[in-house]
Amino acid sequence: MLVGLSHVSLASAQEEWCFLAYPRLPDGYRFPPGWRLAEPGDPIDAVVLTTAVPDYALKIVLKNIGDPLVPVVSLVADIRQCVDASAAGEQSAWMRARAIQARLRELPFPIRNSLQPEDMLLARIYSRDQGLAASYDSSARDLVRYPVAGPLDDVAEIATGLVGKGYLTRQFFDRIHCCPQCRSGHLSVREECRSCRSTNIREEVVIHHFRCAHEAPESQFRTGTGFECPKCARPLRHIGLDYDKPGSVTRCEECGGIGDKPVVGFKCIDCDAHHTADQVPVKTWYSYNLTSSGANRLLRGEPISPHASGDGPDRFRILLEHTQREQREFGVPYQVASISFTQRGAIEAQNVRLWEQSLLLMSDALHSALREVDAVQERPDGFLVLMPRTDPDGAKRAMDLIVGRMKAILKIDPGLQCVLLNDATVRELRDQAA
Ligand SMILES: [Zn+2]
Ligand SMILES: [Zn+2]
Ligand SMILES: [Zn+2]
Repeated sequence: MLVGLSHVSLASAQEEWCFLAYPRLPDGYRFPPGWRLAEPGDPIDAVVLTTAVPDYALKIVLKNIGDPLVPVVSLVADIRQCVDASAAGEQSAWMRARAIQARLRELPFPIRNSLQPEDMLLARIYSRDQGLAASYDSSARDLVRYPVAGPLDDVAEIATGLVGKGYLTRQFFDRIHCCPQCRSGHLSVREECRSCRSTNIREEVVIHHFRCAHEAPESQFRTGTGFECPKCARPLRHIGLDYDKPGSVTRCEECGGIGDKPVVGFKCIDCDAHHTADQVPVKTWYSYNLTSSGANRLLRGEPISPHASGDGPDRFRILLEHTQREQREFGVPYQVASISFTQRGAIEAQNVRLWEQSLLLMSDALHSALREVDAVQERPDGFLVLMPRTDPDGAKRAMDLIVGRMKAILKIDPGLQCVLLNDATVRELRDQAA
């Protein structure tokens, strides 16, 4: 018994942490005390990369380990996604791995082993003990990455949901244009000819002849030896006396067109598509920080269920089920209205930004006109509005008001259509959502 006890205390005093070296440790390499090379079946506390391994190899290694939170450090310079620390004094890589693993061990089992993207993201932010900072990455399709997020996908979307739940705060990082066709951020911003959209343009000074008031680009005044007015054929000698240069024009070398200012256009380097400025959507990027409520939730070990209360489809679905029960049991009426846009496709094809802005305005108008007990579901083709304890007349009045407000604030006609759904359609909706 005595022997057993001393064995336990010895083990915790000299706790060993297992690491996987990949591809292999250099001959004679001495790793810091407290670490031990993992043997088959050992839990992996850290992955230690010993060369700049290719992306696909790193992916396979991580997949085999099957722990999306495991710290990955490198003994050589490597600042890729998934690598938590590298080079800069190998000791610091080992220390970083240890610090991350120590914080991972603070996490309760349900969080440490959750496969919910939201839990995994929060756990990564917590264990790395730093915010979810956005940084530029020219190799990323949308030019931004979150190193702390490691192998997780759709980080910005997950983080937005967590902001809504109060577990993260966000700070503006940048607004970045992206290709409406392929969503790439690799766009070339160009000055183009207004009529043929060529970039083969040049600026030309305009000359104004005082005597006859003729104004034209300089090239039209030039003769072999000097300047002559193309309208009255008089020679131009002294600037300020005979003529001045009131401005410049843009001349297109492709189509010969002349305009006062070039226009801005975007060319996608990835898919080659060309778009005018008003067709190119802008995505806003944020950096994020864990709130104390987010940290508390993690440490209490409550995983975030995808059906947690909050916003979006879940609140709508839960409220719909509740309202239907009320109707069944107490005969309390409710209404579901659908608002759709027949012109969406046409407007979007012409001007994506205008459509996005209009949609936001409509959403604002809708939310400001509704009661607190109502719920909205935003769908690709429009809005669904659930109005508990409302009869058809009441619902029609509310919808007239909302549609009226939407029309009043919009610059475009989205082809608004508003109908109250019958019971059968509502049942279908609920079954789809379940
Ligand atoms: Zn042109
Ligand atoms: Zn003249
Ligand atoms: Zn593109």
